[in-house]
Amino acid sequence: MATELQHTLGKAAGFSGTSLHTGEKVTLKLLPAPVDHGIKFKRKDLQDEPTIDAKIDNLKTVERATTIGEGSVRVHTVEHVLAALSAMGVDNAIVEMDANEPPIGDGSAQAYVEVIKRAGVTAQEASRRFFDVREPMHVESKTGSLLILLPDEKLRISCTQAGPGNRFTQFLSTEITPAIFEREIAPARTFVYYEDVQPLVDKNLIKGGSLENAIVVRGESILSKEPLRFPDEFVRHKIVDIIGDLALVGQRVRGNVVAVKPGHSANAELARAIAREQARTAAVAIKQPTFRGEGGLDTDELMQILPHRYPFLMVDRVIGFEGESKITGVKKLVTINEPFFQGHFPGHPVMPGVLQVEAMAQVACILLFRLSKSSSRLGYFLSADDVKFRKPVLPGDTLFIHAELTKARGNRLAKAKCHCVVNDAIVSEGELMFAFLDK
Ligand SMILES: [Zn+2]
Repeated sequence: MATELQHTLGKAAGFSGTSLHTGEKVTLKLLPAPVDHGIKFKRKDLQDEPTIDAKIDNLKTVERATTIGEGSVRVHTVEHVLAALSAMGVDNAIVEMDANEPPIGDGSAQAYVEVIKRAGVTAQEASRRFFDVREPMHVESKTGSLLILLPDEKLRISCTQAGPGNRFTQFLSTEITPAIFEREIAPARTFVYYEDVQPLVDKNLIKGGSLENAIVVRGESILSKEPLRFPDEFVRHKIVDIIGDLALVGQRVRGNVVAVKPGHSANAELARAIAREQARTAAVAIKQPTFRGEGGLDTDELMQILPHRYPFLMVDRVIGFEGESKITGVKKLVTINEPFFQGHFPGHPVMPGVLQVEAMAQVACILLFRLSKSSSRLGYFLSADDVKFRKPVLPGDTLFIHAELTKARGNRLAKAKCHCVVNDAIVSEGELMFAFLDK
């Protein structure tokens, strides 16, 4: 797959309008930003002009619209501008506003697309970061939303929308490219159900709301200033919201999002699940599983450090150190001939979890001995906390063993966070503690 570059805006551009909740005038400006900056909102109207990262960690509420915040600063209804930036291929930008909410425009993402096109989109000198879906993931909500993320080479959204009593059921499946988004998705307007908004209108909570910026569904009828822009405008708007909410992941998602009755809450749950998976794969990102002379240790070298011998040496070599606190070891479970496979279990060979913990302990010990530069002592395994076995390890697998030193008290006690990885997935993890005693 060819490398794709990160993009930002060619220049600043903006527009003014009404904010949905307060009904006040607001000016929004989109500004270029450097590589790896991501999307940040800037509150021009507040002292010190605080910025808020458009990241799922900053998600505050998902009722009717998506609100993010840091400290006491909030930005409401971020999903349409985020959808436009993401779908039009902008990775890095500042969204500057003089209110707590972008102008609502006509309730669609079209106004933002126009601003982005006026600003232009330009390539930057760094490659784009993607979240590639490796295994299906899904989230479900009590209200009947179901979102499934399947592997795909591109971002595709397959969405089913259904209103009360399954009225206005619509389905659309489409790849998301800038051209498709601009033509097919961005013009689709927000729609609301009369029974949901009437109480808000009564409480004066949506001062800027009108038929200028939303379609109102009352029973079987549709109230709107202009006719529907698409016969299936509702499902198209649902796709806008999905793209906007998933933009909070911070990386471009490559996968097929299958969404049934999606909403901001379920979308945000999926974004969270992706972020968790992202953190996990970042933790296990291994450049090359090959031995690099200066960084690693071969079997002879590590046997000078560890007293363990076959069949209890659970690491073949060390493929690298990172600073003083991280190490990665590797154990190739070449064949079924590993002694433990034969008895664990006949006809169904899996590597025993306790041996994975032993592998973590041995790799962590190499790190600790290297630090103390002393081999006149023995490390004893004191405790193992939060040990989890997530997936079976089978004959033929290569086990990557990662250890990170988290605490060292004097030179007698040490703690290490460890995990084992097979095929880029964590198979086991645990926090180990060691004591050192003189031989
Ligand atoms: Zn929306």
